[in-house]
Amino acid sequence: MTPIENLAQRLGDIPFTTMEKAVRAKSRDFFWYSPLLKERLDHIIADAVVSPRDEAEVLQVLTACYDLDIPVTARGAGTGNYGQAMPLAGGIVLDLARFNQIKSIRDGVVVTEPGVVIGDLDEACKDAVGQELRMHPSTRETATIGGFIAGGSAGVGSITWGALAVPGNILRIRMATMEAEPRLVDLTGPDILKAHHVYGLTGIITEIELPLAPAPDWIEMLVGFDDWKACIETGYKIARNDGFWLKEVGAVQAPAPYRYFRRHQKFLRETENVVCVLVAPNSVDALADMVSQDTGRIVYRSDQTAAEDKKGLPHLHHLLWNHTTLRALKTDSEMTYLQMSFPEDDVAACVAIAERFPGEVINHVEYTRGMGKIRMSSLPLVRFTDEARLRELMSELENLGCEIWNPHAYTWEEGNRSDADAGLIAMKREFDPKGLLNPGKMIGWDDPSYVYDPKGEHVFAGLQKVDP
Ligand code: FAD
Repeated sequence: MTPIENLAQRLGDIPFTTMEKAVRAKSRDFFWYSPLLKERLDHIIADAVVSPRDEAEVLQVLTACYDLDIPVTARGAGTGNYGQAMPLAGGIVLDLARFNQIKSIRDGVVVTEPGVVIGDLDEACKDAVGQELRMHPSTRETATIGGFIAGGSAGVGSITWGALAVPGNILRIRMATMEAEPRLVDLTGPDILKAHHVYGLTGIITEIELPLAPAPDWIEMLVGFDDWKACIETGYKIARNDGFWLKEVGAVQAPAPYRYFRRHQKFLRETENVVCVLVAPNSVDALADMVSQDTGRIVYRSDQTAAEDKKGLPHLHHLLWNHTTLRALKTDSEMTYLQMSFPEDDVAACVAIAERFPGEVINHVEYTRGMGKIRMSSLPLVRFTDEARLRELMSELENLGCEIWNPHAYTWEEGNRSDADAGLIAMKREFDPKGLLNPGKMIGWDDPSYVYDPKGEHVFAGLQKVDP
């Protein structure tokens, strides 16, 4: 009997499948955003998918997999972009989407299981206490809260609340370890970083406690500019103004808005750069006043547009964060993207990039709070020609002083610009001594002396081979 057949026998009525179509579908995420990852990971497939419905079932699956030496790759909704939820060495995909009960909602705090879709959680909080999650990814309607905590970093709301990793944005994470007898460990304070944005490498998240924020009826506004510099400067002015109650400020360079925001096209000029804002009703008029003093043109306000004209429009957050890339890819399959920050004088750097790479880089800026300041981070669209040019472009951007978080690599270290992290490796040794959780994603597990090399590429030795 194979280990997978053996596992099937030990699972009782926990949903389990080896049907190829279903397993293939759950073995993929949005890795195909990257032409490099598409080439390297397209063939990856698990041996089976197991879908526990509660904590006890998670523990039962982990116990059996530990005993049988079966690799386990956790999955929420599979919207991660770097193959984080892909089973590089086979084994099972642990599909957590059915493990999705909200445990409690009280003033300011929600406690939930990991598989809840973020939008459903947000709505439940509004219904129960009139409050909402502090931030969500632009995949709010599809991604799970467990996947966001384990794989995400920031999103809509980060203009006010900063990144998820900042103390106070996650209150507690409960995690199941991968041992002969799995333990449940509650992480609080700095220990939260041992599970947040660690791709399920140190344990399986079974419960999350998050703080809530007030929930006004956010108004969407798009402001158009003929000039990119004026556009990002006004974005900054809005984002830095202490008196506005904001949930999102992003800026997208022409020709992307007109070309890729198809449903909003009727409001836009072909050459327009756009600032996109989510603002509370009590700030919207003051914000409109500020914008009217600049060269911007308010092209859309959700509170002043007739219902007829709003029909079929996507949410504003579906134009931003990694949805900008998705919209570009839908129209233009040659587009890909980067993730980066600018040097100190970020406006000058952003303008220099526009001048230096016309037609190749279309910038997309997200304004976020960090260490008490507002800064621009960037998810630029890039016209892909070939791998050599993409790597050269990353080097050129680094020479301009930008930091690149490489979204074309599947390992934790390369994505985070990090050397092997001794603390994380020690924790994995303690919680996952056999290294069965998400194999291939942590270079330091295989090579604790690894030093981050922006020019190199790590290839996981155990990567599933292409079927001949
Ligand atoms: P998955 O992709 O299924 O998993 C993500 C990672 O978490 C994987 O490594 C997986 O193994 C691990 N994992 C999942 N559940 C658990 C668990 N219970 N325990 C342990 N590990 C687990 N990200 C942002 O941060 N901000 C954005 O605004 C944003 N926008 C996006 C827009 C688009 C169009 C796309 C395609 C992606 C975007 N992302 C963004 C990336 C991704 O959507 C988010 O991080 C999302 O929250 C992931 O949730 P998921 O349920 O799909 O997780």
